[in-house]
Amino acid sequence: MPENVIIIGSGPAGMTAAIYAARANLNPLLIEGFQAGGMPGGQLMTTSAVENFPGFPDGVDGQELMARMRKQAENHGTRLKMEDVTAVDLAGHPYKVISSNNETYESKALIIATGATARRLPIDSEAAFWNKGISACAVCDGGLPIFRNKELAVIGGGDSAVEEATHLTQFGSKVYLVHRRGTLRASKIMQKRAVEHPKIEILWNKTVAEFVGAEVLSGLKLKDTQTGEISKLAVAGCFEAIGHIPNTAFLKNQLEADEAGYLTTKADSTQSSKEGVYACGDVQDSKYRQAVSAAGTGCMAAIEAERWLQEKDLLDH
Ligand SMILES: Cc1cc2nc3c(=O)[nH]c(=O)nc-3n(C[C@H](O)[C@H](O)[C@H](O)COP(=O)(O)OP(=O)(O)OC[C@H]3O[C@@H](n4cnc5c(N)ncnc54)[C@H](O)[C@@H]3O)c2cc1C
Repeated sequence: MPENVIIIGSGPAGMTAAIYAARANLNPLLIEGFQAGGMPGGQLMTTSAVENFPGFPDGVDGQELMARMRKQAENHGTRLKMEDVTAVDLAGHPYKVISSNNETYESKALIIATGATARRLPIDSEAAFWNKGISACAVCDGGLPIFRNKELAVIGGGDSAVEEATHLTQFGSKVYLVHRRGTLRASKIMQKRAVEHPKIEILWNKTVAEFVGAEVLSGLKLKDTQTGEISKLAVAGCFEAIGHIPNTAFLKNQLEADEAGYLTTKADSTQSSKEGVYACGDVQDSKYRQAVSAAGTGCMAAIEAERWLQEKDLLDH
């Protein structure tokens, strides 16, 4: 018997979809992931302080938040499997889902909630200061006490990098935008915003050679891409804004995606380019990339899947 709905991914989007699907009596199966595209529980498993998820006035540890979502999904009857999805076959119906344990599942509806992985600088010292001064999300972490009234750096030259730098000017005393080229990739309006902002200084033709510090990050060693010269920059925080990779390799181009690889969905909907297949959370969202927006679209995906199953009379009575 095919499943009613399989949810792929166990971050806030997948877990919220599971809670809604389980409460709608769809008896969902959630494939949590194992190694592909991050870790079970998703990106929040790598952070200690989530201060903007509603319902936690004193903030909440990322792992605790995800453990609570998982328990809530389970309590309502979601079945969970800790394995990766290696392939799906959307050519026929029911859809096929193949896992890293060589299981083949069949499902009438699918919810893709596999997130997007932040690109990180491939420098040895980077891992040592991750979450200790290095972050990939200014909206998430910019307001933390360790960054307040301190000099900060953003790495990148696209719209996101300028957005992150502008956001950080609310907290930091100064924000350096470190870019490896002599011109920004960002749109004209964003470039103007960065160049004219009194708190932003752009450091052109520079890459990070090394992250330095003791317990926490205290600075960067920068390499000039033209001359090779190394300089030091004292900063208390560094935000990498060098892009995200949506975790869609297992789909092998069976669903439409935009130029950057984010799955495309119909306006005001999580409906993908294939009927009965829904995409929610960061895998389809290059704009907000927040836990609460991921959870919101997870809710939408489960409701849309349920309505579609009903409309098509695919539910057992
Ligand atoms: C360090 C850090 C701190 C952050 N802090 C905050 C914050 O304070 N507040 C906030 O709102 N947001 C924060 N974010 C952003 C937030 O974590 C994301 O927006 C959110 O987790 C997206 O949820 P998601 O469910 O779409 O994807 P994810 O959380 O990325 O989850 C994706 C899931 O898919 C699974 N997966 C991937 N590929 C496969 C596969 N092939 N098969 C099976 N499973 C797969 C993964 O294992 C994972 O479970 C932070 C992000 C990071 C990296």
